[in-house]
Amino acid sequence: MMLPKSQKEAKFIGAPRYFTGIACKREHIAERYSNGGHCVECDNARIKPPAQRKKISIKYYENHKQKCMEASNKWRKASGKSYQYTKTSRLNNPGAVNFLNQKRYAAKLKRTPPWLSQDHLNQIKNFYIESAELSKLLGVWHEVDHIVPLQGTTVSGLHVPWNLQILTAKENSMKGNRF
Ligand SMILES: [Zn+2]
Repeated sequence: MMLPKSQKEAKFIGAPRYFTGIACKREHIAERYSNGGHCVECDNARIKPPAQRKKISIKYYENHKQKCMEASNKWRKASGKSYQYTKTSRLNNPGAVNFLNQKRYAAKLKRTPPWLSQDHLNQIKNFYIESAELSKLLGVWHEVDHIVPLQGTTVSGLHVPWNLQILTAKENSMKGNRF
């Protein structure tokens, strides 16, 4: 198919690309996008598409977990900010998720000892804040996990700071039900 020879013409006939035959500033003799006039080859060679960048950051995180956690801690202290993330926003089935959340919540009520101090409660809250911040900072979903599950088949854990840990969703699913 013959491409339009100018951006003006391409836009006029609604073609997505055009071809001038003139080299771009990086000396590609290539098609251009009608929208913006960028060289297609330059565009293909651009640093990294976002999806790939995300994959790289996940890999980096997995190899430098401790370092990332420390960086996140430092960042949180410096900024004094916390972010609210809801699990439903990243899943396709909010109904099922809400159901599970409610179930967990009910169980949690009975698994939270009344003798916990305010300090303990703050420590628990910090786990959730930290987890949300790691998710945001690293683009990898993190969740607060009960080391001994609240609803284990043989043993049930407590909703207390020393029974909490932050895991990636992937790690959490690999953990399985060992209790
Ligand atoms: Zn180019």
